[in-house]
Amino acid sequence: MSIEVWQGDITTLDVDAIVNAANETLLGGGGVDGAIHRAAGPRLLDACMQVPEVRAGVRCPTGEVRATPGFDLPARHVIHTVGPVWRDGAHHEPELLANCYWQSLRLAEQMDLHSIAFPAISCGVYGYPLQLAARVAVSETLAWEKSHKVPRRIVLVAYNDATFKAYQQLLAQALPQV
Ligand code: ADP
Repeated sequence: MSIEVWQGDITTLDVDAIVNAANETLLGGGGVDGAIHRAAGPRLLDACMQVPEVRAGVRCPTGEVRATPGFDLPARHVIHTVGPVWRDGAHHEPELLANCYWQSLRLAEQMDLHSIAFPAISCGVYGYPLQLAARVAVSETLAWEKSHKVPRRIVLVAYNDATFKAYQQLLAQALPQV
């Protein structure tokens, strides 16, 4: 299995692309978004501002993706995606979160990138319940890996212990039983 779980700061990873859990403006925010902008330097914000708006203030609708260079990051590219804000689970949250993973992987494939790292999209201020979000992250990346060759290295980054455990348990369950 080429899905890796890694605990730490995504901005330190030397991969072809890191995924940013951004917001629809793409103009930066807190959490992992803030950390990525700090580490990439001010050229990242300039690049995000160049992304055309699809409607007033919206450069990347929820569930979609946009790519920029990584600038001062060790990662060559940043794939910005916008996770759903959790309401009650009945407002398309699972489909929108699944789209974030799938569309990021599809863009990485189109760009011929070989390694990609994801933060736990929507699991911070967007309030998605961790176990449910982890299930989406693991099932989407596993489904991708089964049916595609590129990117060959997919890293699920856990910033805290609870996220790390959730990913590990779900991946262990996904292994064929002996
Ligand atoms: P969202 O708005 O999509 O909920 P957040 O940035 O608030 O995004 O949180 C998403 C996840 O990213 C959370 O699990 C948070 O713990 C994690 N996170 C925060 N900083 C980092 C970092 N530097 N590297 C990796 N993950 C991070």
